[in-house]
Amino acid sequence: MKVTFLGTGTSQGVPFIGCDCAVCTSPDARNNRLRTSVLIQSDTTTVVIDSGPDFRQQMLRQGVKKLDAIVFTHGHKDHVAGMDDVRAFNFHDQKAMQVYADLQTQEVLKREFQYVFQNLNYPGIPQVDLNTIDGYNSFKINDLEFLPIRVLHYKMEVLGFRIGDFTYITDANYIELEEMNKAKGSKGLVLNALRYQDHPSHFTLPQAIDVATAIGANDAYFTHISHQLGLHNEVEKTLPQGMHLAYDGLSLEF
Ligand SMILES: [Zn+2]
Ligand SMILES: [Zn+2]
Ligand SMILES: [Zn+2]
Repeated sequence: MKVTFLGTGTSQGVPFIGCDCAVCTSPDARNNRLRTSVLIQSDTTTVVIDSGPDFRQQMLRQGVKKLDAIVFTHGHKDHVAGMDDVRAFNFHDQKAMQVYADLQTQEVLKREFQYVFQNLNYPGIPQVDLNTIDGYNSFKINDLEFLPIRVLHYKMEVLGFRIGDFTYITDANYIELEEMNKAKGSKGLVLNALRYQDHPSHFTLPQAIDVATAIGANDAYFTHISHQLGLHNEVEKTLPQGMHLAYDGLSLEF
């Protein structure tokens, strides 16, 4: 299984519009971060977790020609805004995109993309089949098995996923022990790490390091990064062994 980071930036992306800070103007491409999303590819199956506002650009940049499903973590705009662009896959495959989301996220999708769910048969609108994730049971997309991990994002429940040896958690600031245990033994673990200063709904980098240490994966990768965290290569040098900042385009094999 191959995992590719399509985006590793927080909701505004990096660079942040109008910002002249050292990160936003850095010539190092690792400081350019599209909105957070990840591509999972097995021999037979291609899945993206979240389709934020940069979904179209991410599909083009990564050269994705076939997509079997979109799995959503939660309904915030930076994770769902690009769903309209499944139209390209609808056109090529002549079928609806399989979308996996819990009921809370489905409600958001139906509100934000009201025209998709009206059954108007208007030509060219996105075609989407909703599949319900219940948060407590694993589900399969062809040969890929997803185990949901329920985390808290301030007061909102967000889904992380364990797929074999890989665990992906974004937009969390608290994880119960029982849910944390589901990630134990992963070879690769992704956690969100916004910046150094406290935030009500996101782990800071020191908090993410603590959680990664408690889970104890071989390698941990931090994502959903703000320009406020600092320059990629400088922050990377400060991290404990086996911990890394993710960057757009980084690929891992499991
Ligand atoms: Zn987010
Ligand atoms: Zn900046
Ligand atoms: Zn969020």
